[in-house]
Amino acid sequence: MDMHASMDMQAIVDEALSHAETYRGHGEVTDYIPALSKVDPNKLGIAVALRDGSTYVAGDADELFSIQSISKVFTLSLALQRVGPAIWNFVGKEPSGSPFNSIVQLEAEEGKPRNPLINPGAIVVCDQLIGDRNADAAVDELLQFLAERSGEDHIRIDEQVALSESQYGFLNRSLANFVAAFGNIKNPVEEVLSVYFRQCSISMSCRQLARAALYLACDGTDCSTGDAIILPTRARRINALMLTCGHYDNSGDFAFRIGLPGKSGVGGGILTTVPGVGAVAVWSPGLNAAGTSLAGAMALEKLVESTGWSIFV
Ligand code: GLU
Repeated sequence: MDMHASMDMQAIVDEALSHAETYRGHGEVTDYIPALSKVDPNKLGIAVALRDGSTYVAGDADELFSIQSISKVFTLSLALQRVGPAIWNFVGKEPSGSPFNSIVQLEAEEGKPRNPLINPGAIVVCDQLIGDRNADAAVDELLQFLAERSGEDHIRIDEQVALSESQYGFLNRSLANFVAAFGNIKNPVEEVLSVYFRQCSISMSCRQLARAALYLACDGTDCSTGDAIILPTRARRINALMLTCGHYDNSGDFAFRIGLPGKSGVGGGILTTVPGVGAVAVWSPGLNAAGTSLAGAMALEKLVESTGWSIFV
C-alpha cells in the first residue's frame, strides 16, 4: 500500500483529472435544493492528501463547494466520541439499498434508520451530537473540528444554501418527524434539523476536505503528530460504513468500481479514504441517478487504477 513513495503523484492526479474531462458537465446538477442548482456544472477538481503531509491537486481543487452529505462522516466521528457505542441503539449499521431520503424502511423498522450515512440516520446523529446542549454548540463543535483537521482558520456555512435547504426540506422534515414519532429523537425536531441543514451547507474545497479526513486514514490519529483524534476502532468502523453505505443505493457500484471507503454529497463532492495512505476528494456537480458525482467517480476510478489503492488489491 505504500507504493506512493515511488510514484509521480502529481502526474497521476493530473491524469485522473484529464480522464474525467470527457464527463465534465455530464449528469444532473441538484435542483431540489434551489440554491445548489445555480452551481456551474463544468467545475471539476481533485485533491490527494497523503499521510506524510503532502497534497497534490488539479483543476478546481481550491474552490469552495457545498459539501452536503459528506458532512455526515464528520458529525458521526464527533457523535461517536461523545456518546460512544450507545449511539447504535438509535441508528443501525446496515446498507439501506434505498435513496438517501427514503421513508419506506423507517416504518417497517420502527423509526430506527438503517445507518448514519442516509438522511434519517444523519438526523438521529445530529440529535445525539446536540445531546443536552443547544444546536449552535453542536454546529460550532463541528466547524471547529473541520477547521482544525483541515488546517484552516475558519470553515464556514453558506447561509443561503442552509436557508434553501430548510425552505425546501419537506422530505427531511417528514423523515425527522417520523423518527421522532417513534421516540428516536430526543431534542425538538426543528432544533435537530437546524443542525442537519447547516452541516449539509458547509462550504469546503477538495483540498480542505482531503486534509480534514486524514485522521480516518491514520487509524483515528493526526497523521503528522500521532495525536489521537478518535479511537482507532471507531475510525475503522466509520471507514466500513463509508464503504458499505456511503453512496446510498449506489454503494455497491462504487465499491465495485473504486474499492475505497467513500461518501458522496449532492453538491457533487466525493470524499474517499485510503486506509494507511491518505484521503482523496473530488468535485464535479453533475450527478448520476443515485446522487453521486459522475465525473468525480470517473476521476477516482482512474486514480485507483494508476495507484493500486483499492483496498481489495
Ligand atoms: N442536504 C441533502 C439532503 O438532505 C443531502 C443529501 C446528499 O448530499 O446526499 O437532501
